[in-house]
Amino acid sequence: MHRATKIVATIGPASSTPEILLQMIRAGADVVRLNFSHGTADDHRQRAEFVREAARQAGREVGIMADLQGPKIRVGKFENGKTTLVPGNPFVLDAECELGNDDRVGLDYKDLPRDLKPGDVLLLNDGLIVLDVVRVLGSEIHTTVKVGGELSNNKGINRQGGGLTAPALTAKDMEDIRTAMSLGVDYVAVSFPKNATDMEMARQLANIAGAPYGIKPKMIAKIERAEAIPALQGILDASDGIMVARGDLAVEVGNAAVPALQKRMIRMARESNKFVITATQMMESMIYAPVPTRAEVSDVANAVLDGTDAVMLSAESAAGKYPVQTIETMAAICLEAEKSEQSELDKDFLDRTFTRIDQSIAMGALFTAYHLGAKAIVALTESGSTALWMSRHWTHVPIFALTPRVGSERAMAIYRNVTSLHLDTSTDRDTALQQALETVVSKGYASHGDMVVLTVGEPMGQAGGTNTLKIVRVGEPY
Ligand code: PGA
Ligand code: MN
Repeated sequence: MHRATKIVATIGPASSTPEILLQMIRAGADVVRLNFSHGTADDHRQRAEFVREAARQAGREVGIMADLQGPKIRVGKFENGKTTLVPGNPFVLDAECELGNDDRVGLDYKDLPRDLKPGDVLLLNDGLIVLDVVRVLGSEIHTTVKVGGELSNNKGINRQGGGLTAPALTAKDMEDIRTAMSLGVDYVAVSFPKNATDMEMARQLANIAGAPYGIKPKMIAKIERAEAIPALQGILDASDGIMVARGDLAVEVGNAAVPALQKRMIRMARESNKFVITATQMMESMIYAPVPTRAEVSDVANAVLDGTDAVMLSAESAAGKYPVQTIETMAAICLEAEKSEQSELDKDFLDRTFTRIDQSIAMGALFTAYHLGAKAIVALTESGSTALWMSRHWTHVPIFALTPRVGSERAMAIYRNVTSLHLDTSTDRDTALQQALETVVSKGYASHGDMVVLTVGEPMGQAGGTNTLKIVRVGEPY
């Protein structure tokens, strides 16, 4: 069965051996996420090498995403590792405190007191602890505990409604970008961008750091700050894709606002010709249990029905007991949800005009394949842009994107309904088309008598050069 929705699996202590990674890729992981909030550069280097090796053994390319920590604001450490906050009691966040106790704790972002005023609400540890700001005195933020509980070392802090001024790229992020480029990653995810400028800056840094390795990674904006919502169109224009980063987003805008925002973000991303990942707590209970809850099954299925390119696993695959089973289960849910999904292609095309030849061919191929009931679309592509355009609209016809560039092959691993395959460059168009068709048939994706829609650019080898559409029946004289 052909699964269209892609799976991004975060790797960590539970999934860092070559054997487990191979099983995870076989189970359906399409992109692997290295979380730079945890682990050392050497950990990531080792993991990236294992992923490439496992992908080689599995016989398909897997994308690697470096996810930067960003300016996540955290409390410092405690004398005893933690404290217990009691509702109604005072508690102080103090930028100058070295080691916390039951009355106060330090802050890693020293400017936080300047961003706050009495009446602000702070959410700690993913919203499990709530503090009301009473007053700010120099480096000290005096609060009253509203919702208490255990607070341990280095837990995150968000302000309800957003509005903290910490810059999107920290010194650590800049260093991590250099490390990531040396590992040859395919995507860089930027945490907490506020606007398009944050993404443009990150892209510039990544391109400069990637130049010695010949890499221009795809840039992903994690939408997890309240300010990013009104700036979404600009952020989309400055990025290759976005992540609906529901963990931090929910803390800033409130849990209840997230489902509608998810739908809007997915729709806007697709309309802007960008890809989109839905993330966080999708299969949360499978960190400990071999089966998901029904709510989680619905959540994954609904993200598919919303039109997401990919669904993401965090702790489930990085630190959970069942990384492989979680991916298998998620893949099965995606497959089932896709079956019921209606194509809205004709509606999508109403009142549309195209400005580019390659885009027109891509849309023509999609329209033709859909109405002709073709078995497959086969796109010969250099940069992958033809496949991206096609994959912004849902039809049940699978798209096979063949490219001589390994970077494009890996970048396309996240596009919905696109299977990327390697094809060595041929000098002439007809030989290349023939080879592409043979590749797809030899892998069992199409067989004798099936109708296949092909696209290609002539002359060959130029990005953005797609200008030809050809329809063939497999096995008939070519
Ligand atoms: P994180 O991002 O896992 O890096 O925090 C995702 C999210 O906030 O949902
Ligand atoms: Mn986050």
